Order: sequence, then C-alpha cells, then structure tokens
Amino acid sequence: MSSSDEATLVNKTIDTLLEQFPPAETEAKAFWAAQFDAGLAWVDFRIGDGGLGVSPSLRETVTRRLSEADAPIWNIAANLLGIGMGAGVLAAHGTEAQRKRWLRPMFLMEEIWCQMFSEPGAGSDVASLSMSAVRDGDEWILNGQKVWTTLAHISKWGMIVTRTDPDQPKHRGLTYFIVDMEAEGVDIRPLYQITGEAEFNEVFFDDVRVNDDQRIDDVGAGWGVAMTTLMNERVAIGGRIVPRNSGTIGAAMTLWNESGPSDIATRRELARLWAEVEAMRLTTLRAAENMQAGVPGPEGSTGKLTWAALNKEVTSFSVEMLGLDGATIPEGYSLEPTSYETREVERVMSPQRSFLRARANSIEGGTSQIMRNILGERVLGLPGEPRVDKDIPWKDVPRG
Ligand SMILES: Cc1cc2nc3c(=O)[nH]c(=O)nc-3n(C[C@H](O)[C@H](O)[C@H](O)COP(=O)(O)OP(=O)(O)OC[C@H]3O[C@@H](n4cnc5c(N)ncnc54)[C@H](O)[C@@H]3O)c2cc1C
Repeated sequence: MSSSDEATLVNKTIDTLLEQFPPAETEAKAFWAAQFDAGLAWVDFRIGDGGLGVSPSLRETVTRRLSEADAPIWNIAANLLGIGMGAGVLAAHGTEAQRKRWLRPMFLMEEIWCQMFSEPGAGSDVASLSMSAVRDGDEWILNGQKVWTTLAHISKWGMIVTRTDPDQPKHRGLTYFIVDMEAEGVDIRPLYQITGEAEFNEVFFDDVRVNDDQRIDDVGAGWGVAMTTLMNERVAIGGRIVPRNSGTIGAAMTLWNESGPSDIATRRELARLWAEVEAMRLTTLRAAENMQAGVPGPEGSTGKLTWAALNKEVTSFSVEMLGLDGATIPEGYSLEPTSYETREVERVMSPQRSFLRARANSIEGGTSQIMRNILGERVLGLPGEPRVDKDIPWKDVPRG
C-alpha cells in the first residue's frame, strides 16, 4: 500500500470509530475495546493485534485526531510500560498465543504492566544482572531482587530479564519472561521519590514459579528482547509522537496565558521553548517513518536525550512563572495517586510536580550519559568503550 493509501485507510477507520462510538457518550473502556478491534491501538502492528499493518508514523494521526475529538487517550500514559513498551516486545518477539493473551487487556487497562530490569548491582550495565531463573520441568524458578520498578504495586504483569546460564558471558546467558506480579513469592515494597509519591518499588523474588509459556523468545535470547524493550522505552519516554501544544509545553502556555508575566523576556523564552519542543516533535515524527513495527532504532535515544534536557527547561520555566508559589505544594497535590485518570490530569495541572518529576527524565530508561554512548557508537560510529568483561563467563566476573 502506498503511504497516501495507508493514511486514507487510517483516517477512514478513525471516522468510523468516532461515528460508531462517540467519545462523549462512550465509556473509556468500551472506546478502547472498539479502538483495539478497529486496528487503531498501534496502527503499525498486525491486523488482529490492535493494528492495521501500516507505517508507525501514522500513530501520530491516531493520537492527534482522537485527542481533538476528546476521546480517552490517557491509557497510553497510565499503562505506559505496557502500551509503550511491553506491546512492542510482544509484537517483535511474542508468539501468536502470547500476543492474543496480553495485548487487548493491556490496551483496555484491565492489566497494568511493569518492567523489571534494574537491580541493586546492575543499572546502566544491566547485562550484569544476577536474578536467577532455573528450569524445573515446564516451569522456571526465579530468585533475586529488582529495584526502581515503576508501577509494580498495581501491576498484573512484569517484564523480567533473568540469568539462566551463569557460565556464558554476561549478554548471552539471559532469558526474558512475563511474570505474574500476584504470584506466590513476589514481595513488592514501595520506594519514595522526590515528588513525594512511591511511583516505584523494590521487588523481591523468593522461589517464584513461572510457566515456560511465559518465556519470550528463546532461552538465552533475553538480551535481544531486553534491547527491544529499552528502545521502546526510550521512545515511550522521549520519542512519543504527541499532539502539538500538549504535555508540559501545553501546560506552560496555559499558565502563561492565564497568569504569566507579560514582559517580553518571558514571552521570548516561552516562544523559544515552544519552537524547540515543536522541532523535536517533528524530528520524532520523521524518525518514526523509518521505524519497523515494534522495533525502534537508536533514534529513540536521540529523542530521549533531547527530551530529558528540554523537559527540565520547560518545567523550570513554568515553576519560575509561578514566582514564590512555585516553591509551595499546591492545593490538592496528591502524594498517593490512586486513580490513574486523575493522576494524568494532575501531572499536567501541577507545574510543581512536573518540575520535580522531570529530574528523573535523565536517569530512567537509561541515563543521558548512556544515551550519548549509544549515539556515539551506533549512530556516529565512534570507537566503543573498553568492555573488559564482555567475553568472560558471568560467574567469573568480580562483583562488589
Ligand atoms: C523514575 C525512575 C523510574 C525507573 N523505573 C524503572 C523501571 O520501571 N524498571 C527498571 O528496571 N528500572 C527503572 N529505573 C532505573 C533506571 O533504569 C536506572 O536508574 C538507570 O538505568 C541507571 O542505573 P543506576 O541507577 O544503577 O545508576 P548507575 O548505572 O550506577 O550510574 C551512576 C552514574 O554513572 C554513570 N555511568 C554509568 N555507566 C556509565 C558509562 N558506561 N559511561 C558514562 N557514564 C556512566 C550514569 O550515567 C550515572 O550518572 C527507574 C529509574 C527512575 C529514576
């Protein structure tokens, strides 16, 4: 199909969806079910998996048109680790049975997802992780600890990377599973962050049994699956194609319109930030045209690196506009967001929270230093970092 035929198909499918399920009269969950069945959940995915098999760049058309029609699109942010990352993993590495089992309930927010890669001894160098998985017939037994697990406390499913062969070098002995977060032996404990909330957790695994049909891809192929997850994560954090004037820049514009100082310097700064955010949005859109379904390339790192710095600037600008009020906790600021519908509204409504939360953008999903390493090596072709433990069996690498 030519790209203009693909765009026509997507636009017509959106017209039909909005006609048959008017957002104002349709419950969010019923709308998402219809959106998934129409192939408008992830347009680039296969037909039947919530997609239409068209270019990923057309995701922007869906988000923009649904947001203009006031349709519920907050599931994308509320179940970000599932819809933004897990879905891409299933599209690229999952079996048909796994895609059928997990994609629809994920999109409908019936099942929240989390991602368990980081460990106390493995963050940037995640391939050095220790969480063990030992085969026992049709099952695997997991033992170890994960940390910084966003949303683990409300998740049904967790994407996890485990070490199944300690005799292999660190990248080769890994296997990837989807684990039931309600299974016996999973202990989830909150960690509090600068915003005051406990958005993430530490998670302990004590003889947790996982069925082999929850394994993603081959035994020992976990590093490749982890890379797909991380590349999707970078896109989900910094390279999501969002409508113009949305998110924190939209909030900054609203704040300035309602109560911002009218001096020329503030206006000029807002215009500069707007132009930078818009340039980034358009660059992301262009990058999406080169992306394969479910597998973004290193371009996700460009978006993530740029966004981490830009979002800090935008949110600092908003807090500065508030003057002294910017240093106070606003009325209604919730430290325990329990409803994800209101949580998303809150994020946009409270510049103070956005300002504090933006500090994490240069750490989560890989730090800005690591993004620069990836771009240097994989995009610019610069010499790689020395990796002395690359070919040594994992069990022989000294660890602190
Ligand atoms: C809000 C938030 C949510 C998160 N959610 C999740 C989640 O859901 N699941 C999950 O698995 N993890 C999650 N993380 C963890 C995150 O992925 C790690 O914090 C991150 O990868 C960095 O690892 P680390 O904290 O161990 O730091 P380290 O790896 O110890 O890094 C410490 C410092 O050293 C620098 N550094 C390390 N190696 C290099 C190098 N080779 N070259 C240059 N500089 C280097 C880093 O840039 C950093 O400044 C989350 C983190 C945050 C802040």
